[in-house]
Amino acid sequence: MVTRQDIGTVTMTAPESTAWPTVHKSPETVRSANLSDYDETRASFTWAGARAQLDGLPGGGINIAHEAVDRHLRSEVRDHAALRLVHADESVTTVTYGDLSRLSSKFANVLRTLDISPGDRVFLLLGRRLELYVALLGSLKHRAVVSPLFAAYGPEPVCQRLRLGNARVLVTTRSLYRRKVAPLRDSLPELRHVLIVDGDEPGTLDYAALMEAAPPVYAIEPTGAADVALLHFTSGTTGTPKGAEHVHEAVVMHHATGRFALDLHPDDVYWCTADPGWVTGTSYGVIAPLCHGVTLVVDEAEFDAARWWRILTSEKVTVWYTAPTALRMLMRSPGTPRLDHDLSALRFVASVGEPLNPEIVLWGEHALGLPVHDNWWQTETGGIMIANFAGCDIKPGSMGRPLPGVEAAVVRHDANGDAIVTQDDQAELVGSPDDVGILALRPGWPSMFRGYLNEEARYRSCFRGGWYLSGDLVRRDADGYFWFVGRGDDVIKSAGHLIGPFEVESALLEHPAVIEAGVVGRPDDVVGEVVVAFVALRPPYEPTEELRRELVGFTRKRLGAAVAPREINFLDTLPHTQSGKILRRELKARS
Ligand code: ATP
Ligand code: MG
Repeated sequence: MVTRQDIGTVTMTAPESTAWPTVHKSPETVRSANLSDYDETRASFTWAGARAQLDGLPGGGINIAHEAVDRHLRSEVRDHAALRLVHADESVTTVTYGDLSRLSSKFANVLRTLDISPGDRVFLLLGRRLELYVALLGSLKHRAVVSPLFAAYGPEPVCQRLRLGNARVLVTTRSLYRRKVAPLRDSLPELRHVLIVDGDEPGTLDYAALMEAAPPVYAIEPTGAADVALLHFTSGTTGTPKGAEHVHEAVVMHHATGRFALDLHPDDVYWCTADPGWVTGTSYGVIAPLCHGVTLVVDEAEFDAARWWRILTSEKVTVWYTAPTALRMLMRSPGTPRLDHDLSALRFVASVGEPLNPEIVLWGEHALGLPVHDNWWQTETGGIMIANFAGCDIKPGSMGRPLPGVEAAVVRHDANGDAIVTQDDQAELVGSPDDVGILALRPGWPSMFRGYLNEEARYRSCFRGGWYLSGDLVRRDADGYFWFVGRGDDVIKSAGHLIGPFEVESALLEHPAVIEAGVVGRPDDVVGEVVVAFVALRPPYEPTEELRRELVGFTRKRLGAAVAPREINFLDTLPHTQSGKILRRELKARS
């Protein structure tokens, strides 16, 4: 069953929103959740009220590192474990809030000694190790702009970002410096200081010696709410990554969403699996949990299913924030995880970064004993905008509803995908529930990006008719739940229909043989684009002609012939961005 809607000359096809059974929460779960009555919380919420839950600096303004760390020195949180660093050999180092405050103050003093001014950019190329957290928070204390980079980038992407961002300071390891920066250092004239955390190299400074000599107290100077704090590069899923600039008052959003969307409570042991080189790994892998005074688990190693089950068990993780790709990999684990591992501490699971197929939400219920809560946001939004909440029912396949304080809408677009704006500069919103359009957000939430680095015109073009336009296509159902259709660029135009790849991928995933699917449009003279699918199979399924035919038939039955893939290709694994998203543009090139 589909609903149809005219958009210019094409027809948008959207699935019925009630195809999967709603996941209901028990009264006990609802009672204990930070957000249990959605409408009531939204109605009473104000950003000023959210800001009042934080401290502010004694001398005025607001500083992320003060709210995340130093604020806790006045309470018993001071002696709580802030970080539990799980090393490669699975030994664990615990760092308290008091320790983290001292260490980050030392780093802020190091920057002062090196004559780094507020606004100068400090880049971190470190992997998830203690120094990353210390340098990040210390840079924020000193009001430098900090940009954590993903350590798996090659030399060119690293140096490209250092150049684009006019890096003044780089903190890194010996081996990363040797492999990725030293060969191109001559092309980085602005880079004044390289601090090496594990030894020394010609032309660099010894981090340990500087830290040893630095005083452990640092009084944060007045910090403006709109002072730039962080520079984050987007994932580069659709092309060249953009550098999004974020400000200190973003911490109000991080705190509020940590409370509502991640349901953080004071005794939680929280694990965010994203690397701080991506915005998720900073907003929710450093700032939000520390603002709440919870214990943050950091795994220094890369994904490994058996290791992840061990960490969830041994660290007694209560709240877990991860991504669809990781969950799909865990779905390959044999047996029933909740029977094979002690997951009794786990009480809330959330996911972000890519559409979460309904299949995964329900796998969570069966395999973990808990449904997975999808939420949506982007590097540009700096924080979670739309979420499924601990205290609210889940409609599997939906991203949930806007956070308190966030106004989201669905804007009509023309046949080229551009927003339709009236002559008096008002964006036209879609007329009825389930109509598909561009996901738009009303500017004014505190973690909104304030610029794309060196790309002022591109930044301005994101705002039209009173809204920030996200570039993603969605629909909102009659209950106010948002459903992801696809990125604007990924939507397939075929024989007069607009087809969202997510819908087709989710249908493929319902087949037991399919573990991952990517769907793209291949240009076609007759129908515009034909739907082409790439699938990875769950062992022991083998790619056979028979299975191919079966999958075509299977999706036709679910979606109809106009929407089902015309062609299915088998791949061992799908190509991913370094942040773990399916790279549809690469599939498109192969189609
Ligand atoms: P680039 O902008 O460089 O192409 P990117 O958009 O992948 O890369 P990010 O800011 O890391 O960079 O990702 C945000 C995008 O990820 C969103 O705009 C959306 O397309 C997708 N996304 C994030 N969360 C979800 C979700 N829950 N459901 C569907 N899509 C999501
Ligand atoms: Mg993007």
